[in-house]
Amino acid sequence: MSHEIAGEIRAADGGSVAVLLLRLRRYRQEHILFDNFLNETVTERVKQSLRPEDRVFEIGENRFALLLPGVRGSNHAQLAANRLVRSFVEPINNGVQQVQVMPTIGIAVYPDHGDTGEQLLDGAESAFEQASLSNDRYALAQINGRRRSISYDALRDAIQQNRLEVNFQPIWNMRTNRLFGAESLARWSHPEFGEVNPTEFVLLAEQTGLITGFTRWSLNGTLRHCASALARNPDLHFAINLSPRVFHDPGVVEQINGAAQIWEVPSDRIVLEVTESAVMEDAEISARVLHRLREIGFGIAIDDFGIGYSTYSYLKRFPATELKIDQSFVRDLAVDPRSANLVRSMVELGHSLMMRVVAEGVETPELAKLLGDMGCDLAQGYWFGAPVTAEVFIKGLPDSSG
Ligand code: C2E
Ligand code: CA
Ligand code: CA
Repeated sequence: MSHEIAGEIRAADGGSVAVLLLRLRRYRQEHILFDNFLNETVTERVKQSLRPEDRVFEIGENRFALLLPGVRGSNHAQLAANRLVRSFVEPINNGVQQVQVMPTIGIAVYPDHGDTGEQLLDGAESAFEQASLSNDRYALAQINGRRRSISYDALRDAIQQNRLEVNFQPIWNMRTNRLFGAESLARWSHPEFGEVNPTEFVLLAEQTGLITGFTRWSLNGTLRHCASALARNPDLHFAINLSPRVFHDPGVVEQINGAAQIWEVPSDRIVLEVTESAVMEDAEISARVLHRLREIGFGIAIDDFGIGYSTYSYLKRFPATELKIDQSFVRDLAVDPRSANLVRSMVELGHSLMMRVVAEGVETPELAKLLGDMGCDLAQGYWFGAPVTAEVFIKGLPDSSG
C-alpha cells in the first residue's frame, strides 16, 4: 500500500494526493456481520462515490484504504470524504431488513501531512481514531503529524480559572434580512498548545467528569454577554450548545433556568442546541429533559442534523423548535444537484414539523441565495460572519435603546 502511495506521490508533480482510511459498520452494532450481499453493495457504493482514477484497496473486513491522486488539497479530499459519508445516508435493503451502515474516515494529504507512504498512512490512521472518538464521520490528519494531547488537568484549571472565552457567531434571518442573533462558541487559548480545537476539548470534557463544570461556565459566560447584547437590541436570540451528557445531572433543568434568571435573560431569547447524534444515544432521558426545558420557554435546536441517522419518527418525540442542517450538506449544495434536493427536503421536513430551519456553514453569497430560495429561515457561516469575541460582537451592535 505504502508502495502504491509513493508511486502516486512521484506522479503527482507538485499536486496533491489523498489517502483515506474507511471503516464501515452497522449502526448500533459493534460487531459487524456483513453478508455477501451487503459486502458487494457497500463496495459498490464506495466505488460509485469516487472518481474513476481513484483506487480502492480492501485492507480488512469492511475496511478500505482509498488512494485519490490529483486532488486539490485538503478541502478537496474532505469533499470526497463527504461524498462517501453521504452515499451511506440511505439504508441498504438486503431483502430482510433495512441496514444502516455508518462510515468512519481518516484523511491524510500529501504534502500537508507527510511525504512518504508511511507518514500518510500514519496520519490517516490517527485522523481515523480522532473521528471514531467524536461525532464526526471523518477527520483530517494534524499538520506535521503532531497530535498534541491536551490534558485533563489543563482543561480543569482553565475551567476553574475562567480562562475559556465566549465567542459569538452571527445568525442571519433570511426572511427579514436582519440579524437574528448569535451562537455561543467556546474558545480556549492555551499558553503552550495555542488555540485548542473546541471539538477536542468539549470531547475531553465529555469523556471525563469535566462537562458539568464546563457547562456551568458556558451558561454563565454566555448569558452574561447576552444580557448586555439584549440591552442594546432586545430582539436578538442566542444559541448555546449543550452536551446531553449533563442531562444525567440532578437539577440540570433548574441550573439552566437559574442561570437565565440570574442574568435576567428571558427563556424565549435562548435556543439550546443539542446534536442529533448525542440525543439519539440517550433518547429517553434527552426527551424528558428537553420537554421540561421547552415548557420553561427555551427554544431547542437539533444541531448537525442529517448526519446522525435518526429516524423521522424520533424527531416527533423531541420538542425541537429548530433544525440546524449540518454544514456538510450545505457545503456542496451549489455543485451537486443531489445535495440540493436533500437540503430542500430537510427544509420541508423542518417546516412540516413547525420548526425554524437553520443552515450552517454558509460560506458564499451563492449558497446564501440558494438557501433563501429554498425557504431556509436562518443562516450562519463565514459569509455572514465568523465567530468573534463576545465583546467585539456586542460593540458592533447598533444601539437601539436610544
Ligand atoms: P457546532 O455547534 O456545529 O458549531 C459550528 C462550528 O462551525 C463552529 O466550529 C464554527 O466556528 C464553525 N463554522 C461556522 N461557520 C462556518 C463556515 O462558514 N465554514 C466552516 N467550515 N465552519 C464554520 P467550532 O467553534 O470549532 O466548534 C466546533 C464544535 O465544538 C461545535 O460545533 C460544538 O459542537 C462544539 N462546541 C463549541 N463551543 C461549545 C460549547 O460552549 N459547548 C458545547 N457543548 N459544545 C461546544
Ligand atoms: Ca451548534
Ligand atoms: Ca452544527
